[in-house]
Amino acid sequence: MSAYRGRIAPSPTGYLHLGHARTFWLAHQRARRVDGEILLRIDDLDGPRCRLEFTEAAIEDLQWLGLDWDGEPIVQSGREENYQNALLRLARDGHLYPCFCSRKDIQQAAAAPQEGDDETIYPGTCRPTEPTPINVTDWTQFQDEFNQARDGRAPCWRYRLSENKVIEFTDANRGPQAFQTGRSFGDYVAWRRDGLPSYQLACVVDDADMQITEVVRGEDLLASTARQLIIYRDLHLTAPSWCHADLMRDDSGQRLAKRHDSLSLRALRKSGASPDEWLETWQEEFPNL
Ligand code: GLU
Repeated sequence: MSAYRGRIAPSPTGYLHLGHARTFWLAHQRARRVDGEILLRIDDLDGPRCRLEFTEAAIEDLQWLGLDWDGEPIVQSGREENYQNALLRLARDGHLYPCFCSRKDIQQAAAAPQEGDDETIYPGTCRPTEPTPINVTDWTQFQDEFNQARDGRAPCWRYRLSENKVIEFTDANRGPQAFQTGRSFGDYVAWRRDGLPSYQLACVVDDADMQITEVVRGEDLLASTARQLIIYRDLHLTAPSWCHADLMRDDSGQRLAKRHDSLSLRALRKSGASPDEWLETWQEEFPNL
């Protein structure tokens, strides 16, 4: 067995479609090709949008596709304490600040939406001028202090990014990448107002705990990788390497989404399709990966 450890991380917010399948297949290929391990993680933190039914369906559909994984699935919703510890550490080290802005406040204050990413750049309304370490000993104290901090409401916690820093990495598929803080993305959320970690924070904590050596995922997450590299640095964790697969598009060039029901693995399986033909196509599409 080699030292390679990859992962497949579906979000159970709907049925998996062909686009997910292709990315997960690639992740699986890259691990097995070097006799490495591949783990399955269920990214089910997005409360009401995640359903157990979709987790079960994802497992069945991945197996139908011929993918396997090592060990039991890791489920994010059972790992709160790990995320809380990471949040406390970042807050104590002065990397975060509480933000009370509503979505509407942000939209109204924002200059212009940036290109290529779907998050508005935070205009800095609640950002302190200097890094401000939060002096708390544990989670209970943190909760007591901030749960009803303003008008009985909890804040979300944003990353206080250094301005105009360039974050670079090399992607196994897309080559050299560079993102700039304040331009590619702004002070992003590390902890949500509803008490859950953001995808960025949870993903870093888990990938590090799982000792993932390479993250294979869709290219829509390239800018998230830049955000996550900042968290790796500030938590003093070793970052994995990266491979972002191009996204599958439908005939009109739109990227596949869970709403493309007819291309869900479920629907394809019901219609009598066999995965073999796609596996062959994908092999041709990624000859060097
Ligand atoms: N759960 C995420 C998704 O389905 C994937 C996150 C990742 O691979 O980092 O979009």
